Amino acid sequence: MKRRYLLVAVVALCGGGLWAVSTNHHGERSASNTGILTTSSSTTSVPTTTTQPVAQSANGSRDTSWEPVAIPVVNPPTASGVLDGKVVGIDPGHNGMNYSETSLINQLIWNGSGNESCDTTGTETNDGYAEAQFNFNVAQYLAVDLQAEGAKVVLTRSSNSGVGPCIDQRATMLNNAGANVSIDIHADGGPPSGRGFTVLEPVADGPNNAVIGSSAQFGADLVAAFQATGMPLSNYDGSNGVAQRNDLAGLNLTTQPKVLIETGNMRNGTDASMLESPVFQQSAAAAMAQAITTFLTQ
Ligand SMILES: [Zn+2]
Repeated sequence: MKRRYLLVAVVALCGGGLWAVSTNHHGERSASNTGILTTSSSTTSVPTTTTQPVAQSANGSRDTSWEPVAIPVVNPPTASGVLDGKVVGIDPGHNGMNYSETSLINQLIWNGSGNESCDTTGTETNDGYAEAQFNFNVAQYLAVDLQAEGAKVVLTRSSNSGVGPCIDQRATMLNNAGANVSIDIHADGGPPSGRGFTVLEPVADGPNNAVIGSSAQFGADLVAAFQATGMPLSNYDGSNGVAQRNDLAGLNLTTQPKVLIETGNMRNGTDASMLESPVFQQSAAAAMAQAITTFLTQ
């Protein structure tokens, strides 16, 4: 059946703030280019009618029949190395087709401290390079690096052509995988004059109480390692490259050491040029792998 999509404005939340974007903002994906959905297993059962947000209380359960598929991708080690026996979780933020299913990704879920949308479109550079694609690329490079050092790597999505999964399910998947450490990969949509990267760290809220200190240690390792990419510390968010956040599902609901990195600002021209570069993407992954190795072996 031919599917139709409403083109409406949505709000993309990416760590640092709220930025209005259009759902058909990805220049490389026109509204009529919906054929890919028919082959995406993660969207075949998605309802096409508008549904009302389903708020969920902290101790309540919700109707999950509407949710995007949440199946972790498990990659075994490809060699023996310093990460033998370790499990690393990677969450590449957003997904490439989220903009086509706004009624779904705007549904509310409990994020540990309040209600938040299931997911967002993410941001993009001024010339239309999508954050979701950047996040996915870096995650793939990082997985390869970690597998080559002996780690088993668990990812929250298998492609950049699907929808979701919801952010609480992303946290749950990595928790259930028994990850020794996890990283949420993002890029920010900040003020145009703002530059640099920020590591977002959890604040104790119950589920994550046991991993606040270890997450801060991992965050420090990541701040130290990521400067090798040439991306500066953020000049508009956090302090010395670090910000504590109590409003993000990925950090509120984690039961293992975890941080979220905003690798740069897609709305700044200098940062955007770096973020779009495959060389930088591989460098970013290498820095993340270095931080993960430092954290797991120190
Ligand atoms: Zn993001």
